[in-house]
Amino acid sequence: NTPLHELDPDVAAAVDAELLRQQSTLEMIASENFAPVAVMEAQGSVLTNKYAEGYPGRRYYGGCEHVDVAEQIAIDRVKDLFGAEYANVQPHSGASANQAALFAMAQPGDTILGLDLAHGGHLTHGMRLNFSGKQFDVVAYHVDAAGLVDMAEVERLAKEHRPKVIIAGWSAYPRQLDFAEFRRIADETGALLWVDMAHFAGLVAAGLHPNPVEYADVVTSTTHKTLGGPRGGIILARKEFAKKLNSSVFPGFQGGPLEHVIAAKAVSFKVAASEEFKERQQRTLDGARILAERLVRDDVTRHGVSVLSGGTDVHLVLVDLRDSELDGQQAEDRLHEVGITVNRNAVPNDPRPPMVTSGLRIGTPALATRGFGDEDFAEVADVIAETLKPSYDAAALKARVSALADKHPLYPGLK
Ligand code: PLP
Repeated sequence: NTPLHELDPDVAAAVDAELLRQQSTLEMIASENFAPVAVMEAQGSVLTNKYAEGYPGRRYYGGCEHVDVAEQIAIDRVKDLFGAEYANVQPHSGASANQAALFAMAQPGDTILGLDLAHGGHLTHGMRLNFSGKQFDVVAYHVDAAGLVDMAEVERLAKEHRPKVIIAGWSAYPRQLDFAEFRRIADETGALLWVDMAHFAGLVAAGLHPNPVEYADVVTSTTHKTLGGPRGGIILARKEFAKKLNSSVFPGFQGGPLEHVIAAKAVSFKVAASEEFKERQQRTLDGARILAERLVRDDVTRHGVSVLSGGTDVHLVLVDLRDSELDGQQAEDRLHEVGITVNRNAVPNDPRPPMVTSGLRIGTPALATRGFGDEDFAEVADVIAETLKPSYDAAALKARVSALADKHPLYPGLK
């Protein structure tokens, strides 16, 4: 029972340093969030010791009576949260959920139609080096000149290529997708509709974003982005896909489920059904809107900085640096210097190389979880704007970042 700090001071030091980093800087990576202490407690529990291949009530191991309870709670809660007929809470990650889902819907060699990675799609939606791109015949749709998904192109490509699966979902896109239109196109072309709501699942849970479960055959998600739970994946679907999806996850791709993570998912689904969570998602959305509004002011755009699609209706803003002297890498480094963590991101038709890029993806979920409200987000936006101007006072901006971090302590009491 030797504690971590005694048994392994080297690893303990890295964990301590990471806690301090999270507490003292502003986390604005759009795919990140801060899990509640209760979620981390479940994730760090003795459930990590248990093998439980199979599903609740139908395991290949003895002694599963308690993990069965936790997993069934997770299943029931997530079905309720999103109004789904079926849920699988075992995928180890978003990518694992997507792999299992795709292989349940299509065979290798079948055609899939998804949003181009360079236009905001995800690796698992058909990127060349990913399983999805290697094993399936990929056709990609794009965003138009205004930065919006080109639904006319989706329809044209679906009619031309007759994909087995149409994928609606994104990793870097600042607007809501038109699920009804995707459904219509899927129906007209005989395709299955798969929505990957990894990024916006928290907004959906809060009722602040259209619910893809009402439109799609299969919906996948991560549990750690806007949803604010432990790192992991889920699959939701209509009942008729239950058998195929279950056997695709196990034994198709995975062995023993991570029951400690599944218990933590259950806790996070309880949190996500609360009024407090809804209020937090509203602040997340308001924060992103405030950020976008303040980054398109004249004094900012004069320096070649603007936002894709002119704004946002989700939890992130895509900063467009194509007309700026700063590239994505430099902008990311500058913000890091003042204590704001973001990731550089290619913009559609990016003139700069993929490791450099001409964009930034900036998200508000983690700061909203910390308690940031409108005023705080306005201050964050102004700090970002100042940092992206040709000359900037790093020390003064860093002090403003520290003041915001101090105003909203993260994990107080955790050491
Ligand atoms: N799907 C989308 C849309 C994502 O943005 C991501 C992660 O960035 C994933 C799936 C994959 O999730 P994970 O990193 O847990 O594998």
